[in-house]
Parts: sequence; C-alpha cells; structure tokens
Amino acid sequence: MTHPRLPLRAIAFGPVLATLVASSAIASPESLAAALAQKAQDTSLALEIATDLTTEIGPRLYGSESEKRAANWAVKRFSVYGFDKIWMESFSVERGWKRGLETASVTSPSPQSLVITALGGSVPTPAEGIEAEIALFKTIDAMLEQPEGSLNGKIAVVTQPMAIGGYSKISGAIRSKGPSEAARRGAIAFLMRSAGTDNDRIAHTGGTSYLPEIPRIPAAALSVPDAQQLDRLSERFDKIRIKLVLTPEELGTVTSQNVIAEITGSERPDEIVLLGAHLDSWDLGTGAIDDGAGVGIVMAAGKLIRDLPNPPKRTIRIVLFGAEEIGIIGGQYYADHHADELANHIVATEADAGQGPVEFMNIGLDNTLDPTLATIRKALQPLGIKSGRSKSSGGPDIGPMHAKGVPAIGLSMNTDDYFDLHHTANDTLDKIEPKRINQSAAAFVITAYLASELGGYYRIQP
Ligand SMILES: [Zn+2]
Repeated sequence: MTHPRLPLRAIAFGPVLATLVASSAIASPESLAAALAQKAQDTSLALEIATDLTTEIGPRLYGSESEKRAANWAVKRFSVYGFDKIWMESFSVERGWKRGLETASVTSPSPQSLVITALGGSVPTPAEGIEAEIALFKTIDAMLEQPEGSLNGKIAVVTQPMAIGGYSKISGAIRSKGPSEAARRGAIAFLMRSAGTDNDRIAHTGGTSYLPEIPRIPAAALSVPDAQQLDRLSERFDKIRIKLVLTPEELGTVTSQNVIAEITGSERPDEIVLLGAHLDSWDLGTGAIDDGAGVGIVMAAGKLIRDLPNPPKRTIRIVLFGAEEIGIIGGQYYADHHADELANHIVATEADAGQGPVEFMNIGLDNTLDPTLATIRKALQPLGIKSGRSKSSGGPDIGPMHAKGVPAIGLSMNTDDYFDLHHTANDTLDKIEPKRINQSAAAFVITAYLASELGGYYRIQP
C-alpha cells in the first residue's frame, strides 16, 4: 500500500537537525547522517518499537498465528510512519511445529529432576515418555567415533560446552545433526548441553533437523547446571537412567511471511539500500534480544530517514524476515523471489545479534576501498565503531542474497551477554538497555543514509 508524504514537522527533530533542515539545501550527507545519529540517541525509538512488539505480540514462533499478528502489527506501524510502499510476501514452511509438555528426570541411581527444553522441530516421545540408560559423551566427536548400533536403546547425551568451537559448532554439529547421528548409532533420544554461556538453570532451544533416511528421535537441550550434574554423575556411577517426556506437535506445512516497507528514492528509485531483521522468535521468551531489538533498530533507522524533509536519493527498503529460526526460510525466499532485482541492491545489512552496541564495521564486497565506505567508516567513528577485519555476509537473512552477489555490510555487535539469553525464557524486554540499542540504531541509520546518498556502485561477483 502507498501513503502520501506526511507534512514536515522540523521541530520534532530537535535543535541540531532543525537547524540543518532549515538549511538542507546546503547540508552535506555527512552532516545529515550525524544529525540522524544524534536523533537516534536522543530518542529511544528503537527501544519503543521493541517494547511494543514484545508486549503487544509476545513470542512469534515461525508459522504461528503470533508470527502473523506480528507481521500485521509491522505493516500497521510502517503505515503510521508514512513509508511509501508496504507489503507482505508469504511462503510455505514445511516443518510447522508447536511445543508441548517437556519434563525429564534422573530415575536412578539418585532420582532428581532435570531442566530441559525441546529443540525446535523435535518429534515427541510417546505420551507416557521413555525411560532408558544414558550414554554420555563430553564432546560430539566422542559420540561420532562410536560404531553404528553401539547406542542401541539408550538416550545419547552430549555435554560439550559452548566455549569449544563457539556457537556455530554447537548449533551446527550438535544441535542440528546430533539427533540423527545419535539415532544412526541406535539411540532412542538425544539430549545436549544448551548452547549458552550462562550458568542459569534454564535451557536454550534452537532448531534441529533430521536426516531423511534415519529414524527421527526426540531431542532436547539441558540447562548448563543440569548437564554438569550429569557429567558428575557419570564420573561416579556406571549406569544412569533418565525419564524423558516431550509432547510437541508437528503441524506439517505452515505459512510464514516477510514484511517489506520502502521509502522511495528521489533520484535513483530503482536502486535499493536494504536493512533487515527477523520478526519471528523462539517461543520461550518474548524474543526481545533475538530479534525484537533488531526489528526496533532497523525500523527506527527507517523512520528517522522517512522524517527527513527531503527523501533519500536511493530507495531504502526495510525487510522484516519470517521463519529465520528454523533455517533462514524467509531470507532464502527473498533471495529467490527477488532474484531479478538483486543486481539493483546497492548494499544490504541486518541487525540480528542483540541490542549492541555496534563495535565493528565488516564488509562483504569487492572494492573495499570505495570512497563511500571510507565516508561511512568515518561517520561511525564517533560511536566508537572500528573497522573490522572479518568478511561479512551482512547477517543470517542477508546471507542468501549475498551469496547471489548483493554487497553486504556487517555492523557487528557486542555479544558478551547475547548467548546468556539466546533462545531462552529469559529473552525478555528488561534485558535491553536504552544506551546500547540507541547506539545501534544510530549506526544503522548512518550506514543506510550514507549508502543511499553517496557513490556506491560496488558490485561483487557471485
Ligand atoms: Zn536471530
């Protein structure tokens, strides 16, 4: 849908921007970007948006009614902000899923309850649960060394801490492939130590997947203290038995959607600067850090640019992706569905690592010495943002379009506490600090605005 431009209310910008607005004919893109950044920090618009989303909608599991309500909420919000074009693109997600009961306990030799949560996409146990001896491995590699059939009838438990290999190893090798690899060796269920850096008695969920030719077994994550307790028990006793009850429902094919909103460029409307975040979240908390904060950051950046008296030269496109958590389904759909116009995407970046602050600017493009990049780097310096050394794909949902040649900038955020909260019931709004999220909104608005105003014909070879 389209909306007429709102009348300019320069006074709403505060003194710095009002002065620049009054003389906008002579204001440089750099000075306007600095004023936008100041505005992002003086207001708490990003936090306000994250607050409304997590309060009015709550958790937003992929393919759920809640995720759909969040999409409608976002359309309405973009409309209130006066974006020029707003639309939704729906797509199918094959593995719809809904959490059920989830309990576990040690039944022998020393009965005690365990804190667990089902991995997203897990199959259920029988309603009465399963009770079996465990086979505990301190690393995933130790489990993978076991021959087929060696875990027959057992519950496989992997207690590898996240510190070894970081998140990608845990999420990929353990959470995603662990259940099928355990089943291949005969296990009847799979438990893993949560992929998290906290010591709270709270479990971290996250998506798992099953290999087609192998029996699908129930899979859950243990809280870190419970995984450590099983480590100690296994050092003292030869045989430990666990009872596990998981009753999630598989819902078959469900629908998710990306929400897209644009400020039409005044000089190069066909050229797109894309800011992304994902609207879906896991179901245990309210998805404040992952990724309500990101939604707040990019929507705030867009709204601040929308409120300028003169529209940006290029089109600013905000994409709130659906179904990221179960395998970047919305990001892949966007890259496929918009394949024809990807060549017009000047640059893309995503906020999906919590609230910030942004610490590094990493780039994923060929001509890294482009003067536009130097200008953006310089504009980010007052926020304490340094040039990063790693190559960036722009963020999880940007990855698929980046793989097809879209240049990316990665505004890399501080994640010191991110994996304490990530995918848990503790991912709630109270964890967001205004100063941190405001700095991030400032970094994103600077990057988007300067990319829309300056040079920037950086193409990369797919
Ligand atoms: Zn995320």
